Amino acid sequence: MDILSMSLDEVTAAFKENSIQAFRAKQVYEWLHKHLVQSYDEMTNLPKDLRAKLTADFPFEGCKVEKVQTASDGTLKFLYTLKDDELVESVVMKYKYGYTVCVSSQVGCKMGCRFCASTVGGFRRNLTPGEMLDQVYRAQSYVGERISHIVLMGMGEPMNNFDNVMKFISLFTDENGINLSVRNISLSTCGIVPGIEKLREKHLQLTLSVSLHAPNDKIRSGIMPVNKKYGVDELLSACRRYASETSRRISFEYSMMKDVNDSDECAKELASKLKGMLCHVNLIPINEVETSPFRPSTQERISRFSEILSGSGISTTVRRKLGSDIDASCGQLRLKSIRERGNPDASCS
Ligand code: SAH
Repeated sequence: MDILSMSLDEVTAAFKENSIQAFRAKQVYEWLHKHLVQSYDEMTNLPKDLRAKLTADFPFEGCKVEKVQTASDGTLKFLYTLKDDELVESVVMKYKYGYTVCVSSQVGCKMGCRFCASTVGGFRRNLTPGEMLDQVYRAQSYVGERISHIVLMGMGEPMNNFDNVMKFISLFTDENGINLSVRNISLSTCGIVPGIEKLREKHLQLTLSVSLHAPNDKIRSGIMPVNKKYGVDELLSACRRYASETSRRISFEYSMMKDVNDSDECAKELASKLKGMLCHVNLIPINEVETSPFRPSTQERISRFSEILSGSGISTTVRRKLGSDIDASCGQLRLKSIRERGNPDASCS
């Protein structure tokens, strides 16, 4: 395990095995998770020979900033290279209440949602807890301000990398580290029901987002292959259980695609299926991805859809589209960079 993925207890145990005193573990842990350094040489309160030993025996496996793009609305997009030369990206958005980082959990994705750029080129590998943390640490170092919120809505399906994502959350909320409140974390899933059940059993106070995007199996299975395994009714039952047991409001993501999922009938069907659930619906005009045939719904359509939901008592917001001029939607920047590198895996059909 790389040092950035280890809890303080794990670092302490690993140091003990290497005959390094326990107080050094705390020092190193704080340098990594509070001061966000990227090399042992910056840990100025460690003796030089210890720094050399640690450099050799406990190498860093974080993210190297490859490229940062700034959108006209201030949204930042980071492209990182990992130790094995894979690419991941994260998006940093500035809101009134502070900075939010959209973190990737995997390189590529297995889920195959037809509107999403992350799936092009297929799945490469899971990210380690340290690689997820470092996306936030690099962003925080870059903007020079504390990151206040995390959304696990970047590339990848967090439920398919469950243990690493849980470790990431526990490191993130550790009082010896950056110490963010778990309430400021959102985890987004395309609807892996066993993952939702496992998360429910953990009783975490995070926000669960579910990428619903359609009110019925016919439409949803056409755009999200995962729906063939876990259909809308099964998914919504799991969401109801989750909301009632954790008392946390579920956030449904609904990307508005012209003539696909944006009719009045869709809105009415959605409203009836969500009735009585502790939930909120986020309507987002879909970001156009060159590999997908879907186009965003018109503003009028989105407003009408929103009115129908709100009129039925469903809490609804239309989300601002941030960063569309820098390809800020899932997987888009990575896709572009892979193409520039000439990686044949990323060629799309
Ligand atoms: N795998 C997880 C998290 C990553 S995707 C999930 O599916 O929830 C984050 C969100 O962006 C999801 O709601 C996803 O459906 C949505 N998304 C992907 N591509 C998009 C696009 N081109 N335009 C708008 N939303 C998109």
